[in-house]
Amino acid sequence: MCFEASTMACNARLQSSSSFSTDAMQFLISPRETKTVSYENEETRSIKEPTLGLVDYDSLPEFLKHNEFILNYYRSEWPLKETILSLFSIHNETLNIWTHLIGFFIFVILTGYAASIFPSARNSNNYSTLQLRSGNSSNTFTSFPDLFITVDLQRPQLFSRWPFYLYLAGAMFCLLMSSACHLLSCHCSKTSYIMLRLDFAGISGLIVSSFYPLVYYTFSCHPFFRNVYLCSITAFGLAAVVVSLVPVFDSPQFRPVRAVLFACMAASGIIPIAHKMITFGHRPEAVLTTQYEAMMAMSYGIGVLVYAMRVPERWLPGKFDLAGHSHQLFHVLVVAGAYAHYLASVVYLGWREGEGC
Ligand SMILES: [Zn+2]
Repeated sequence: MCFEASTMACNARLQSSSSFSTDAMQFLISPRETKTVSYENEETRSIKEPTLGLVDYDSLPEFLKHNEFILNYYRSEWPLKETILSLFSIHNETLNIWTHLIGFFIFVILTGYAASIFPSARNSNNYSTLQLRSGNSSNTFTSFPDLFITVDLQRPQLFSRWPFYLYLAGAMFCLLMSSACHLLSCHCSKTSYIMLRLDFAGISGLIVSSFYPLVYYTFSCHPFFRNVYLCSITAFGLAAVVVSLVPVFDSPQFRPVRAVLFACMAASGIIPIAHKMITFGHRPEAVLTTQYEAMMAMSYGIGVLVYAMRVPERWLPGKFDLAGHSHQLFHVLVVAGAYAHYLASVVYLGWREGEGC
């Protein structure tokens, strides 16, 4: 519905905005302008249509007003084609889009890299293990920055890799949905509504999939706890997706419920991590993965704090419109946190493949 209605509106706008294709600089950065366009139908009418310039905060429709400290360079209700092409132009969402798009490609590369350091059962002749070494001493840890990973074909490969790749898929889905949301939401309110929900689904997917390598590999030899944790977080994630998709939960009075649900879902990770340290605290793999998880929690925590406080733009409104505002910092910290958990997941998988139960 949004796309059909907008296509008609967009055709009119396209005809009235040849400056978009002929004047690239105006497309890149220009103040809002309005002009009167005359339509010759059965009856002559005059409609105020915006050009495809970038607009200021006060000119935005309600559905695009999210941060009053970012004053300029907004796209507002652009036609779909121009909205997609704005991936390559400069506006106040450019870095929001690219921070997570680059993050997505980083995880594509990490997936390929992981597939190469964990050879398949067929390629490794059913024998592979991962040794974790620090400095010159094999299988010991001094500090995590010294860690490097090698694959040594010695022991039977015992464990499924799907929890590891599920996490990578969850991270890629989250980053791609976020990037698409920032790119397309300015098109119209319906698109914004749909993309925001896909964004929430992506966040749920990232949180839930993050639990899988942690729980599956840590408690591989304790199937009762493994199943309880996996079922709990999966149910939690499904509830979060439902809360994100059902329109009633979008109303202002339910937004805190949604925020609390996401926060509880993420914070519940502390339970299996504490359980891991109680049971396997003497193991270097458990200590190392917990260090990575602490780095992840710190990245996400600082990111959410920056996002909620809307700094630094709160202190100097209008000065960080294009670069340096809170949402961009939040995005970078999300990618950093997701990468820290990737490193933890590599250790989890190597731990089990090398040792078994
Ligand atoms: Zn975002």
